Amino acid sequence: MAQGLSTVHILGAGPTGSLAALALAENNQRVVLHDPLSVESLTARSRAYAITHSSRRLLQDLELWDRLIDDLIPFELLDLRDQSINKRVLFRLKDLPSGHQTHGGIGWILDHGPLMQSLFNRLRLHSGVELFLGSPPPRSGPNDLVVAADGPGSPTRASWGIHHWQHNYRQGCLTAKVAMRGVGEKKAFELFRSEGPLAVLPLGQGNFQVVWSAPLHKCKQRCELSRSGFLDQLAAILPPGLEPDRLLDRPRAFPQQLMLAHRLSCGRGVLIGEAGHRCHPVGGQGLNLCWRDVETLLQSVRGGGSPSTIARRYGRQRWMDLLLVGLSTDLLVRLFSNRSRLLLPFRGLAIGLLALNSTLRKLSLRAMSDGPMQLMRVLPD
Ligand SMILES: Cc1cc2nc3c(=O)[nH]c(=O)nc-3n(C[C@H](O)[C@H](O)[C@H](O)COP(=O)(O)OP(=O)(O)OC[C@H]3O[C@@H](n4cnc5c(N)ncnc54)[C@H](O)[C@@H]3O)c2cc1C
Repeated sequence: MAQGLSTVHILGAGPTGSLAALALAENNQRVVLHDPLSVESLTARSRAYAITHSSRRLLQDLELWDRLIDDLIPFELLDLRDQSINKRVLFRLKDLPSGHQTHGGIGWILDHGPLMQSLFNRLRLHSGVELFLGSPPPRSGPNDLVVAADGPGSPTRASWGIHHWQHNYRQGCLTAKVAMRGVGEKKAFELFRSEGPLAVLPLGQGNFQVVWSAPLHKCKQRCELSRSGFLDQLAAILPPGLEPDRLLDRPRAFPQQLMLAHRLSCGRGVLIGEAGHRCHPVGGQGLNLCWRDVETLLQSVRGGGSPSTIARRYGRQRWMDLLLVGLSTDLLVRLFSNRSRLLLPFRGLAIGLLALNSTLRKLSLRAMSDGPMQLMRVLPD
């Protein structure tokens, strides 16, 4: 247990703040978790997350994995296609490190509702956690660590005077849940199109989460379409055999940014999750990156010392992963979401090499599922 640390005050009970609260409480810290929203509002969002093996390990360590197992929809096949050049590569379970293959998925799709319900069920019962959801929190004391997990617009980041680098993509993102015919249950798609990538992710029982990137005004127009109009537009761009049948929620459009805070710590405070960084949704890295923040924060707290020592250590250790993932997702979007004929041969070469060479497939899948920082290390499992 860290010396000199009294309580951890977490501001923001989204998926990052709530998981951080559980992880720290399980490691014998007293935790105060605050969000201006009620539990009902925090649980009600309609979205689904792609979960990678780095997140799987953390959920297992916190004994959440088995509780969520019925809601974790695995995919064993990732079909990645460049529709402009009509080439594709298939990532299979056997392209994962052998230790990962036994878990039965390249990745999983997890709906926001069951995730937040499981987290709040655990947090409510935990003797080390005080919840202030929809109610004001107590003030933090001088020996408390303050963890800002208050999302991309983070008022705490602003109040600490931390500036950030930001690039607003011309592309926005539309998310929708759609029932489809013609796809195997355990298959996910990432389709590179000139207007932006389109991911089709299995939610089980023939339902899929669609994450459709395109210029923001087009995303907004598509959200306004009638249900049948929306399904027709989607059907027109999906690979042959994939047939959207029913729209299961209201499509929503939101802007996309690459964002990184200039610093991840300030005195006895740290930024975690989207309060500190955002990246393009291509490759489904976002929430997994946020949860790797939680893992690093936990290690830093275990390292001991005063709250400001813990905060500084966290800030130092977290940079590289965020930078590498942010830059590689940005590079992917720039390379594959444009109409430049000059780039077509490079795209063809990249997809061709991946399709032919299993070592390259294994390396890229490992970087995606464990993070680029794990490439040179022995995997924990
Ligand atoms: C419209 C939309 C749709 C999305 N859809 C998807 C998707 O389909 N798949 C996917 O993988 N990702 C999606 N994302 C991204 C995903 O939601 C984020 O990666 C994830 O929510 C980050 O979690 P977080 O806990 O860091 O931040 P958030 O989820 O943003 O949580 C921040 C929390 O902080 C609280 N807060 C704000 N101000 C304060 C304050 N002053 N004090 C205390 N608390 C405060 C907020 O109420 C909120 O609950 C979507 C994002 C948006 C905006």
